[in-house]
Amino acid sequence: MAQRRPIAAGNWKMNPASQVEASDLASTLAVELVALTGADLVVFPPLPFLHAVAQRLAGTRLGLGAQNLHWEEKGAFTGEVSAAMLPAGVGWTLIGHSERRQYFCETDETVNKKLRAVLGRLMPIVCVGESLAERDAGQVEAVLERQVRGALDGIEFPAGFGPASSLQFAYEPVWAIGTGRAATPEQANEAMGHIRRVLAGLHGQEIAGRMRILYGGSVADKNVAEIMTQPEIDGALVGGASLNAEAFASIARQIAAARPG
Ligand code: PEP
Repeated sequence: MAQRRPIAAGNWKMNPASQVEASDLASTLAVELVALTGADLVVFPPLPFLHAVAQRLAGTRLGLGAQNLHWEEKGAFTGEVSAAMLPAGVGWTLIGHSERRQYFCETDETVNKKLRAVLGRLMPIVCVGESLAERDAGQVEAVLERQVRGALDGIEFPAGFGPASSLQFAYEPVWAIGTGRAATPEQANEAMGHIRRVLAGLHGQEIAGRMRILYGGSVADKNVAEIMTQPEIDGALVGGASLNAEAFASIARQIAAARPG
């Protein structure tokens, strides 16, 4: 099995309420995680705070990402921001988070456009996952396959792993996000194994085996060690718990400890 470097990612969503709080959270995290070398670390603050947080994280081990962006470079897209407009220091982006799909009409097609716009330029984490109704209807694999195929539609990775090395997926079952009801490690592993099979079908075992897939959905410092026992799980995308520096630092340490390099 390919050795994949684990990732601890914090999605701050539309939090905290002020730039001062966001900057303080970033500074505290940088101090807490100064010695952690065994995982990639990244936080996704709200867009208006990216510049201030970038200043606090400059020279630290923490990466910085946008929660969303538009696929065009510029133009008549009121309220939108392009990859080119992100402040220096932003190296990652989320794409297609379920809250974007649910509340802001994002589709597999817009996910694909965003991915094409940033691949090889930023480190995208493409979020996929089924709703509770879809799980209850036995459609988990079909939904994941549709979302992964949709995200990668028409995208080639001609030079071996090449630009594929910048791409991550996050399996985030919608019913587990913000509910306190995480998927069982086995449920997550099974779904993520399916994502990897779809990736292998599209781009071969080599790329699929090296691509990192995170689990997201009510990850906390109390359950992350158990989640990380599963072989398909290469880290976590953490929402609520990432707003608490101590909790996120503990999660990140446990993720790194689960995959000693
Ligand atoms: C998320 O925002 O991607 C997420 C998984 O949230 P939470 O950890 O709060 O469930």
